[in-house]
Amino acid sequence: MNQSSSAGEKKAERTTIRQLPLGFYFDAGIRSFHIVARIKNVPGALYDLLGRLQANVDFVNSTSHSLGDGSAIWSGFGKSLLDDESEGRLKELIEWSPFVLECEVKGSDHGLLIDTFHSGLEVAPDRLGIIIPIAGAAQIFDRLAQTYGSAGKAILFQEGSALGKESGQYLKARLGRGDFDWKVEALLAIYRAYGWGSATLEVEDPNARFKVTVRDCFECSEMGKFRKGCDFLRGHLASAISTLSDKEFEGEETKCKLRGDSFCEFLLSRNEPKELNSTS
Ligand SMILES: [Zn+2]
Repeated sequence: MNQSSSAGEKKAERTTIRQLPLGFYFDAGIRSFHIVARIKNVPGALYDLLGRLQANVDFVNSTSHSLGDGSAIWSGFGKSLLDDESEGRLKELIEWSPFVLECEVKGSDHGLLIDTFHSGLEVAPDRLGIIIPIAGAAQIFDRLAQTYGSAGKAILFQEGSALGKESGQYLKARLGRGDFDWKVEALLAIYRAYGWGSATLEVEDPNARFKVTVRDCFECSEMGKFRKGCDFLRGHLASAISTLSDKEFEGEETKCKLRGDSFCEFLLSRNEPKELNSTS
């Protein structure tokens, strides 16, 4: 559990550092390779593999994951360190490793390499995802607000709520009976990792009232001339937090870049169960 609020503040001030795309690599200036190897999932296997390649390839982006059957996939993009490097020679070098079960090596074409081994992403285990540039999402959001006015904004809020409910259910099933404020922290950490925005939490009243500050919020980072707030994220936050707590939370966006503020701020408050609110 993260006890240090000063560490959290430092994190909030940190310059945003994005991940490189895992699906492709482009460098017109140098011959590069995409290497995929299925290796035995035992300690030392990856160390052995990378050791065999260290004089040949300078890796710029790589990933590895277990297949759950005693083997694991390692996949990496790298720049060639030798002028006359070839796919065949690298494949041979890799296959010498006693830990490697099979491998594929592909050289760049006009500087471009695309990972043709993997098809698609899992944003979390068994939860499939796709990548859409923020500019594309912003255009869809803007067009909804432009065409349908307040109904368009309501759609964004409702779709944010629907997805937030799903995310809340997913997290709840996995995080079990942990402390509720910690689960909200986990939700915000996932927003940051996904690139939805650098979100930080302030607990104003434990289990009942939270202030969430979002720098680099994806929803208002591009365009937005037809919108005045981040309705999708507001819906997602309120709904995910409601689902995580089994209580009903309302979300209000008190600051937003679309209204001239330098960041977005959401207040999440638990509804008092006794009072029925008749205004809609
Ligand atoms: Zn906003």
